[in-house]
Amino acid sequence: MTPSAIGADIGGTKLLAVALDADGTVTAEAKVARPDTAEEAVATLGDLAHEWGGDGGVPPVGVGVACLVDRAGVLRAGPNLPGFDGFHFAARLAERTGGPVAVENDATAAAWAEQQIGAARGVADALFVAFGTGIGGAAIIGGALRHGVNGFAGEFGHMVVDPAGPLCPCGARGCWERFASGSGLAWMAARHPSGRFASVRGEAVATAAADGDADAIEVVEELAGWIALGIGNLVAAYDPQVVVVGGGLVEMGDLLLAPVRRRLGEVTFAAASRPMVPVLAAALGERAGALGAALLARDVAAGGSALLG
Ligand SMILES: [Zn+2]
Repeated sequence: MTPSAIGADIGGTKLLAVALDADGTVTAEAKVARPDTAEEAVATLGDLAHEWGGDGGVPPVGVGVACLVDRAGVLRAGPNLPGFDGFHFAARLAERTGGPVAVENDATAAAWAEQQIGAARGVADALFVAFGTGIGGAAIIGGALRHGVNGFAGEFGHMVVDPAGPLCPCGARGCWERFASGSGLAWMAARHPSGRFASVRGEAVATAAADGDADAIEVVEELAGWIALGIGNLVAAYDPQVVVVGGGLVEMGDLLLAPVRRRLGEVTFAAASRPMVPVLAAALGERAGALGAALLARDVAAGGSALLG
């Protein structure tokens, strides 16, 4: 059967694509090494769309890309995707498939999936923050994605939380993602007074903390404090119903999320006058971006109400 939509997520190392039937069930999946150029990525997606579409024709195709994407679907400033910058992905993909397309930032697409079919299903006002190597995010307001005037909304990771902090690749100092990320975890571990984690990876600290190592737990608590600080700022700005957290760090589960929730209760503005904002683990895992991209493509084909502007 012809899929109702196809979605893909293009990250730093891989391209993951899914086909959805009318109920939103995944009927096909492909994972390949990330194409070297944007043109190759378009060709890969075009081939998949023709193959999975079969006799029924090419379905709508959505893609979430790990970079800024402007409102026209042109890729901007993706440090993890060298050579993709300035490429008019939406125009080239539409030429290749002949049908509706949606091109979005990967975290924006993942947020949409979590709000449509994941942890924040049915919640009108939700924030999504993905804590990986860096931070991705998006705000959903009144049931629609906040896109921003340029399409660049939701870059929560570059909120400056310490102007004297470490230098960020974006050029600023002390961006939230310098602290509340996998690289931040390794940085904090290296600075721990015990000196035990000077050259270990963040994953090793997480494993040690899970085994009850007191020094490692201290590092994870420090990480949790930075995560809660930024979420508290976002809660002050957006007053959301829930905050969904995803990305590699959240695989630590309650080891990380319990201290995040505790600290958030301490740092949230007007905490005594509002219900505690639930911090929910994302439900869709590594497929979230591809699923969201497919759902956005379907929305475009139906006339489009997902984007708030
Ligand atoms: Zn930055």
